[in-house]
Amino acid sequence: MAALPPGSTIGILGGGQLGRMLAIAAAQLGYRCHIFAPPGDNVACDVAPGFTVAEYDDLAALEAFAQNCDVVTFEFENVPVAPLESITRLVPVYPPLEALEVAQDRAAEKQFVRALGGRTAEFAVAQDESDVPAAIAAVGIPCILKTIRMGYDGKGQARITAQSDIVGAWERTGAQALIAEAMVSFDAEFSVILVRSQDGEIRFWDSSRNLHIGGILATSTLPSGPLVESQQQAARDMASAVATALNYVGVFTAEFFASAQGPLFNEIAPRVHNSGHWTIEGAATSQFENHIRAICGLPLGSTATVADRVEMHNLIGDDGAQFEQILADPAAHLHLYGKAEARPGRKIGHVTRLYR
Ligand code: AMP
Repeated sequence: MAALPPGSTIGILGGGQLGRMLAIAAAQLGYRCHIFAPPGDNVACDVAPGFTVAEYDDLAALEAFAQNCDVVTFEFENVPVAPLESITRLVPVYPPLEALEVAQDRAAEKQFVRALGGRTAEFAVAQDESDVPAAIAAVGIPCILKTIRMGYDGKGQARITAQSDIVGAWERTGAQALIAEAMVSFDAEFSVILVRSQDGEIRFWDSSRNLHIGGILATSTLPSGPLVESQQQAARDMASAVATALNYVGVFTAEFFASAQGPLFNEIAPRVHNSGHWTIEGAATSQFENHIRAICGLPLGSTATVADRVEMHNLIGDDGAQFEQILADPAAHLHLYGKAEARPGRKIGHVTRLYR
């Protein structure tokens, strides 16, 4: 595809903070964004000149949206694939829907990565409640039950540390197909975030070390330390093999555990990622801008880190109340997402501190 000229319209499926930051990056390059999202606290709509509030399977609304856009992307990996397929004949959609399909299914994504030579934790599928004991027995206790579909930020998960935890676990995870995944002993978590252009060029940002609390990302830090640095190249090779096999266009994230045996793949996100928010100020080109560049057919920007040390902290629940203290720190860059309600566990912003 020839480069989309500034002034063109980019459609974004999903109305959360990732869409908001994509729309801000797109506006800087002279594009207009049109958000498509179901009713809710759609904070991306605050910064986009167009939006459609409709369900993701409303075909008439999707087609009208597609006719109004020059390219369509998504910021949310649980958008249903089948209705989206119907708009691919009206407008280019990046990343490709196959990536969305693979990422929506925890079992399929692990199998996809394994087929390309990647390592994952041991896992076993339970399609219904009666399969759960056998799946747990196959991987052993301790393990984690994770729903195959629709899980994010630790939701749809249950830790099994004793036989007695099995009782009621099916209901606790939402009574739907799941995997039992062996508990991994790891020393650090990190992600590979890359951008792939329409002609197959790949660029990587430095991998930050990611700390999760309660299944939710709390901080991303750079430098990531010797352990992550020593595993980054192998993880990059694995992530780029997956992105290339999917003929991917845009920003792609793969999360890893740094284990004694090397990088162990955890999951992919076919989109910009929370562990890449530091790139807004900490890299020459942010993940958001490079995603827009890739889907619009523009040259990719440099992904070089521009500070000696970078720390990104998520602001969760009522953490945003500290905004004045944060702003008093000259190292801090504050991002608040404009959410109407600061519920516990809800990401309402982030702060990135740069040190040179
Ligand atoms: P996920 O939704 O798979 O990204 O899981 C959320 C977080 O739970 C991860 O970032 C880890 O901190 C933790 N976790 C997930 N799977 C495992 C595992 N197999 N072993 C140990 N910790 C895990």
